[in-house]
Amino acid sequence: PLVLSVESSCDETAMALIDGHGRICANVVATSIDFHARFGGVVPEIASRKHVEAIVGVFEETMAQAGRHFGCDTLTADDLDAVGVTAGPGLVGALVVGVAFAKGLSAAADLPLVPVNHLEGHMLANLFAAPDLRPPFVASLVSGGNTMLVHVRAWGDYQILGATIDDAVGEAFDKVAKALGLGYPGGPVISRLAARGNRKAIHFPRAMMHSGDYRFSLSGLKTAVITYIEGEMRAGRPIDLPDLAASFEAAVIDVQVAKALAAVEETGVGDFCVGGGVAANPQLREAYVRKFSRRGVRVSVPPMAVCGDNGAMIAVCALRSLRADADFVERPETGLPLDARPNAQLSEWTSPAEPVVD
Ligand code: ATP
Ligand code: MG
Ligand code: FE
Repeated sequence: PLVLSVESSCDETAMALIDGHGRICANVVATSIDFHARFGGVVPEIASRKHVEAIVGVFEETMAQAGRHFGCDTLTADDLDAVGVTAGPGLVGALVVGVAFAKGLSAAADLPLVPVNHLEGHMLANLFAAPDLRPPFVASLVSGGNTMLVHVRAWGDYQILGATIDDAVGEAFDKVAKALGLGYPGGPVISRLAARGNRKAIHFPRAMMHSGDYRFSLSGLKTAVITYIEGEMRAGRPIDLPDLAASFEAAVIDVQVAKALAAVEETGVGDFCVGGGVAANPQLREAYVRKFSRRGVRVSVPPMAVCGDNGAMIAVCALRSLRADADFVERPETGLPLDARPNAQLSEWTSPAEPVVD
């Protein structure tokens, strides 16, 4: 079957088309990031309006790209077998644009409508790099809105071991970048600077590193970095941006790695993976590979192109729900009554089916 997926939970209007083997035939991402940059963060109202502007064009581009994949001009809705859509979590006004579009398409072309959880999407993006990834494993979800460690006991059986009690990791990168006047989003620019800095130059606190649980706290670190910046500026000393970025990242990474190691040890799993926008951070990826492979634990990270919000990760989840049981799409909460759920939990709309990615 051919599955089209729609993702609009934040500032990316994204769609993808995959075949029954989980192969990507088209993957299109339009971002409204430039319109948020001067506000230092995503402005929900702007994100919603930009989704409305972009969504038809993204659909046309996705269908044209898929057409080229199959050697024709473009696919049409008649070629599709199902529509998957991110139903949550995310910004409500952003989600409803994608959900409304997916509903319209599903009604017009008489296609099953499959709700997908955005966070499960980030996790399953790993399958594009490691198609043989199977539970049990531990996953770290690190993004703009979430920071958690999950014990995946079976597909669809997600035990959240712990999460942040305040800011998400991506949010900390964004807030530090904002304090330095480096624009939005902060992750990519901070990680580029950090790559040529000294991670030991400045000592920042490793919050909750030894708390004995899997909770995280990032807001104190953010405040420590901002206090440092203000202190240096007051003293008239120039700030070494690479050293500052590397030292901040080191504080984040040390805690992430320590807790992930503890989670893998306690659960006794042999596989570990990372998902979410922050999974694109080269230093974090490298730290995980270095620390885990030494212990004989296999690490997977998603391909860079599917770390941030994208449709392909949503399509993989939709395909597996379709395969789970034919009745899935007939449940009362799916199909046309489907509504966006901005606070959806990780296990919402999941299924026990095995995902397919060849
Ligand atoms: P959620 O997935 O929790 O709903 P979101 O969809 O807004 O939140 P993502 O798109 O998954 O978040 O990730 C965006 C976040 O990833 C931003 O905070 C951004 O700064 C961060 N990020 C992107 N690239 C990097 C990087 N190289 N290093 C660190 N952080 C990064
Ligand atoms: Mg985004
Ligand atoms: Fe996301």
